[in-house]
Amino acid sequence: PYRGPSAEQILEKRKRFLGPSLFYYYQKPLNIVEGKMQYLFDENGKRYLDAFAGIVTVSCGHCHPEIVKAITEQNNLLQHATTIYLHHAIADFAEELASKMPGNLKVVYFVNSGSEANELAMLMARLYSGNLGMIALRNAYHGGTSGTIGLTALSTWKYSIPQEIAMLFLGFCLTCNMACKSSIYGTCSVENLKAGSKCGCNGTLTKLLFHLIPSPTNFGTPLPSSPLVLWPVSIPVQRCSSLRLLSVRSPSSSTFPSSHRVLLVRSPSLVSSGVLHFAFSLSGLHLSGEIHHVVNPDPYRGDFGSDAHRYAKDVQDHINYGTPGKVAGFIAETIQGVGGAVELAPGYLKLVYDIVRKAGGVCIADEVQTGFGRTGSHYWGFETQGVIPDIVTMAKGIGNGLPLGAVVTTPEIANVMAQKIQFNTFGGNPVCSAGGLAVLRVLDKEKRQTHCSDVGSHLIGRLKDLQQRHEIIGDVRGRGLMVGIELVTDRKEKTPAKAETAVLFEKLRELGVLVGKGGLHGNVFRIKPPMCFTRNDADFLVDALDYAMSKI
Ligand code: PMP
Repeated sequence: PYRGPSAEQILEKRKRFLGPSLFYYYQKPLNIVEGKMQYLFDENGKRYLDAFAGIVTVSCGHCHPEIVKAITEQNNLLQHATTIYLHHAIADFAEELASKMPGNLKVVYFVNSGSEANELAMLMARLYSGNLGMIALRNAYHGGTSGTIGLTALSTWKYSIPQEIAMLFLGFCLTCNMACKSSIYGTCSVENLKAGSKCGCNGTLTKLLFHLIPSPTNFGTPLPSSPLVLWPVSIPVQRCSSLRLLSVRSPSSSTFPSSHRVLLVRSPSLVSSGVLHFAFSLSGLHLSGEIHHVVNPDPYRGDFGSDAHRYAKDVQDHINYGTPGKVAGFIAETIQGVGGAVELAPGYLKLVYDIVRKAGGVCIADEVQTGFGRTGSHYWGFETQGVIPDIVTMAKGIGNGLPLGAVVTTPEIANVMAQKIQFNTFGGNPVCSAGGLAVLRVLDKEKRQTHCSDVGSHLIGRLKDLQQRHEIIGDVRGRGLMVGIELVTDRKEKTPAKAETAVLFEKLRELGVLVGKGGLHGNVFRIKPPMCFTRNDADFLVDALDYAMSKI
């Protein structure tokens, strides 16, 4: 029996010693003390069917014996020495991982997380191409570090407060350096940012200071204790007279709630030198310049349905009108994870990869959630779209719970990276490498890709049946064991059933089933269990959901 501190005691300590942004699931948070394959156990010994796998991380199963054995043996021998000495584990793991990759993707870099992998991929893209601009999808999640938060266009910050106060921008005057009177609360309009706007003292504006006022949320649910934060983003504009507002776009994609605005500002003189192009989307904070978020090819909510050509045109438009004609790269998940299991419109990646490569950029596939056979039909998510990327990033499932990430690229791109020293203290350390290698072998030995296909199609089939009976299920989507259930109060309008999702989420927990929650509106259940999840488990999950829905 468990003799450790209670959930209340742990929560109290977290509140005192850990940052207020650390959020938890469930009104009464779970204290998980043990895990075994697809099951988790709380402090009272209650068993839960885990359909979220520690956020799509526990690929083989909690405490899978063969992986525990591999880690333990390595732990007892040598935990760490860094890559300044030789060790076979990192080399063996890299060889095995490279053998899983198509095309010329043969050079492996090990890091410690998905964010780090994407940071490195972005650096590679910029160094290799000699360009700065990155293109990512709206509704994407690629990490939370200062670089990757710019690629992420969802959720960690959600500007969900009414638009009257959502954005304030101030012009700073060249002459008196005071914030001039033209500060604006409310809907940004082109008139408010005219070329050569004048300050009260008749001086020309020199700098724009944007105050984004985010309200931190956990995917739609405000974090109770968080204060409002003012986040200043200062844009020095040497020649304000050449500044013009490209557009204030009401979101053309319905992935943006109507209260959000996307503001694109550019100075033509600086754009020609490739320096200045800012796109502030109020649902994503772009800390590093030159990141373009294109319309999300979302077949359910997207404006263009499943028409990949029209979505791809938006990428071309961004390149034509928002960049000097060249970009560093494009990054996308093939099924958006945090975004709510959104599978990109068929054929989209092929079209976009062509466009991006013609503009000098490289194509990055974020396989942090979709990799390692989870989609069932293929080992890698990008294969479902028939493309081969230039760089692939991975994390989560690659380590079954170990802090591990990887980037795989071509020798040509790797050569450019050799301009600088690439060092990472823990990347590929013996314990993680031994564990990661064991993960790859277990997935093969247990034929998990085929298993995901089999159990996943059973699960999706049963969920589609459930959709016939429960109006609240707007969409069932996904592949293999990467499944999303989107809940709506009105199927035609697709109104997000936020409150109902929250109630059902708690109810499922009571019934002993743990699922994830996601999507821009927090109204999507994410079903991404450890890959040892069985047909019986799928039936139990669907029956529990059916029961919970019948009670709502
Ligand atoms: N990419 C994707 C697709 C992810 O889902 C995540 C994490 N949710 C990341 C990158 C970042 O990974 P990490 O949290 O390990 O930094």
